[in-house]
This record gives sequence, structure tokens and C-alpha cells, in this order.
Amino acid sequence: MAGSILTQRMGKRVLVIERHFKLGGFNHAFTRKGFHWDVGLHYVGEMGAGMPLRRVMDLATRGAVAWRQLPPGYDQLGFRGENHWYFDSF
Ligand SMILES: Cc1cc2nc3c(=O)[nH]c(=O)nc-3n(C[C@H](O)[C@H](O)[C@H](O)COP(=O)(O)OP(=O)(O)OC[C@H]3O[C@@H](n4cnc5c(N)ncnc54)[C@H](O)[C@@H]3O)c2cc1C
Repeated sequence: MAGSILTQRMGKRVLVIERHFKLGGFNHAFTRKGFHWDVGLHYVGEMGAGMPLRRVMDLATRGAVAWRQLPPGYDQLGFRGENHWYFDSF
């Protein structure tokens, strides 16, 4: 992301060095034996249209990433009460 912005806005030539055989760090995903795995990133907050971080992302990706809103209650936490569990969604 920094490389993209430095190139676009500062006219710099950027060399990105990666020691893994696949780019992306915790954002990359892979498939093994028909199963798809993401190694880290599941969702990103503050990506509503016009929000500051979204604008940075749109700049870095030149708008190439299509963002989708998560359904409500994506994260659900369970808390143990005295006699029962209760759940809250975020
Ligand atoms: C299990 C998990 C779940 C997560 N879920 C979310 C989430 O849902 N939403 C969210 O916003 N964030 C999440 N995060 C955090 C998010 O993944 C990180 O904040 C983000 O990936 C950081 O990006 P980065 O580019 O700084 O570092 P990284 O993604 O760690 O990338 C660093 C890269 O540098 C490379 N590298 C390291 N050392 C060298 C070296 N010496 N030479 C060359 N290359 C090197 C690595 O191979 C790697 O590709 C999660 C993290 C984890 C671990």
C-alpha cells in the first residue's frame, strides 16, 4: 500500500521485497486439498464510502477492490450468566 501511494503521489520508483514465496503477508490466502484458507485478515472496519481509511485504500488500489458490507451479527460473543448463557452480536 505504501509502495503504491509513493509511486502514484510522489513519483518514486519503489522496490517491494518479500521473503515468502507469496505476496500479501497476513492478507494472502491459499488452497490445499480443495479447502480454502485465509491466514489472517477476515474483515476490515471503517470501509464505508467516503471514510478516511477507505479513501486511502481506494487510492492505493486505484479503486480495484470491491468492498462488501458484512451481514449484521458477524461476530457473536457468548457470556455466561448465573444460570444461562447470553449472546451479543457485533
Ligand atoms: C489470525 C489473524 C487474523 C487477523 N484478522 C484481521 C482482520 O480480520 N481484520 C484486520 O483488519 N486485521 C486482521 N489481522 C491483522 C492484519 O492481518 C495485520 O494488521 C496486517 O496483515 C498487517 O499488515 P502488514 O503489511 O503490516 O504486515 P504483514 O501482513 O505481516 O506482512 C509483512 C510481510 O513482510 C514479509 N517479511 C517479513 N520479514 C521480511 C524480511 N526480513 N524480508 C522480506 N520480507 C519480509 C512477510 O513475509 C509478510 O509478507 C489479523 C491478524 C492475524 C494474525
